[in-house]
Amino acid sequence: MNQTPIIDTEVAVIGSGIAGLSAAMFSCNRDISAAVIGGPGATGFYSGYIDLMGVFPGKEPQVKSDPWQAIGDLYSKFPEHPLNLIDSPDIKSSLQEFLDFLQSQNLQYTGFEGSNLSALTPLGTGKPTYRVPETMWQGIRARQEKTSCLFLDIQGLKDFDAAGLVSAMQDSWPGIRSDCIQFPGLAEGREAYPPLLAQNLENQTRRRELARVIAANLQGEKAVGLPAILGIYRPGLIKREMEEIIGATIFEVPTMPSSVPGIRLKEKFSNYFDQKDNIQGFMQQRVFECTKQGNKDFLLQIGGTKPEKKLRAKSVILASGRYLAQGLQASRSKIREPLFDLPVTQPDNREDWHKSDLFDPEGHRANLAGIQTDSAFRPLDTHGNPIYRGLYAVGSILANADWMRFKCGGGLCISSAYRAVENMK
Ligand SMILES: Cc1cc2nc3c(=O)[nH]c(=O)nc-3n(C[C@H](O)[C@H](O)[C@H](O)COP(=O)(O)OP(=O)(O)OC[C@H]3O[C@@H](n4cnc5c(N)ncnc54)[C@H](O)[C@@H]3O)c2cc1C
Repeated sequence: MNQTPIIDTEVAVIGSGIAGLSAAMFSCNRDISAAVIGGPGATGFYSGYIDLMGVFPGKEPQVKSDPWQAIGDLYSKFPEHPLNLIDSPDIKSSLQEFLDFLQSQNLQYTGFEGSNLSALTPLGTGKPTYRVPETMWQGIRARQEKTSCLFLDIQGLKDFDAAGLVSAMQDSWPGIRSDCIQFPGLAEGREAYPPLLAQNLENQTRRRELARVIAANLQGEKAVGLPAILGIYRPGLIKREMEEIIGATIFEVPTMPSSVPGIRLKEKFSNYFDQKDNIQGFMQQRVFECTKQGNKDFLLQIGGTKPEKKLRAKSVILASGRYLAQGLQASRSKIREPLFDLPVTQPDNREDWHKSDLFDPEGHRANLAGIQTDSAFRPLDTHGNPIYRGLYAVGSILANADWMRFKCGGGLCISSAYRAVENMK
């Protein structure tokens, strides 16, 4: 009889977004064997900034320049926010380990020592964030110092609007202008996508051609703002090589999805996992069922379009995201967690899910729905007790952390994953 062999691991991480990838990396660093299963999730949308705590939402949202001070004040204003479950030193350690990992993989991030910075959005507004890819850093400096700057559109690229950026910023940043160039090798009239252009710039000849096109368009500007397309694997190197030819600083500005900085993160983790004996990656696969074997291990059925393999794990970290990734599912009357049917904190009535104004500064209660945990990130039952020994929930699936309003997405994913893994040691 053809019996599917069971793959054993200490921890199964369900989800390969920022939370799941971080959890697998933290496990590997602590000699805990891990299997990570999941599809793209929100990473393809991720603008690349690591938010930590940027805004206290409310009728008059308060922008926070010091995320650590904000985290210190969080409990008094928003006692249910899950970042309250983690001590600040642990949050700091988690971010440091995450950034050290990226640095070891040649993906540098930067920022101010203890404060947030105002990063450029694709719309030309500023957003408080904690760390940015080094390829975006000079744009923040240029905006602060009002350096003369050329923003470039690329023919056929709909996910970026340099002219719109310039018109949104030129009152506060004189000396900026926009232009539109043809990407070398791309047929005129052809639609362009950020990942395709980034892949092209991995080729040295192509990036030299692009640098020469940019240099020919400069009118004495000291800096050039480009959509985030400076390669997938070696953005720092590509930036430096092109700067030498152009003779001016270049920097990236996030595009609309698909977002290359998110793809870069995912690629770095995937390549790292491929080299490690104690991590098994099941990317582009999903968990169809996960059951607890009495008081012992978890048994997971995983595969592409149908269950193909079985995985046995002592612990499970549920990092399955929100509505977009199907970690939470909303029917007409209820928000559900589909894998374990965990209790989901949510409003009693559907009418209370959303405010009538889409842009209500206080946000929508559906975005606060999610899984409630204890300080070890174990999901709780309705009596406040951990549901399963060995089950953790981390990242954006957590209740009471509307990342869109608080600007806390990446920081919460990384630090909750860290706490869950530390708890397993
Ligand atoms: C447009 C946009 C821009 C953003 N920009 C930023 C930013 O600049 N900075 C920032 O800090 N945050 C940002 N965020 C927020 C940030 O993206 C999220 O907070 C974060 O990506 C959530 O990560 P996650 O790992 O919790 O979930 P996700 O990234 O959604 O990942 C969930 C994972 O679970 C998997 N999954 C779900 N169900 C199953 C199953 N049954 N079996 C296996 N796998 C499963 C999915 O395939 C996916 O891999 C942005 C979000 C959006 C939408």
